[in-house]
Amino acid sequence: MSQLKYCQGPKCHTYDTKDRKKGPKNNKRNETRRRSHFYYLDGNCCSMQCMYDWFNVYGQRALDHFGRITQPKVLSADNAWRKSYDWRSSSEGHNHYVYNHLTEERRPITEQQYDDEQVITEDGRLAI
Ligand SMILES: [Zn+2]
Repeated sequence: MSQLKYCQGPKCHTYDTKDRKKGPKNNKRNETRRRSHFYYLDGNCCSMQCMYDWFNVYGQRALDHFGRITQPKVLSADNAWRKSYDWRSSSEGHNHYVYNHLTEERRPITEQQYDDEQVITEDGRLAI
């Protein structure tokens, strides 16, 4: 079983739900949710509300810390590559290719290249 972790929502414990209630009758309290998996904030928050609460408290500081976008990011022919394939029956094998969605250029690649994360960089550049 994977390890339990706490929701990172700073106000999680303030939402009054049955599953947050802990403690004996004479000492009731609500606690931050704890689960092995969360769906929000990349697996760190139990709900959309907790995700927004996190951003409201920490978002500005996170943007300042990691750096804001201060000039436009540009999509050009250099970084407009994506991988795709045409479906064919499994005996034929799918037809894999890289596709430039700006110039519409299309280049065939092998299935191994298709599965290779390095073929196209995170910012859309062709690395082969
Ligand atoms: Zn939460």
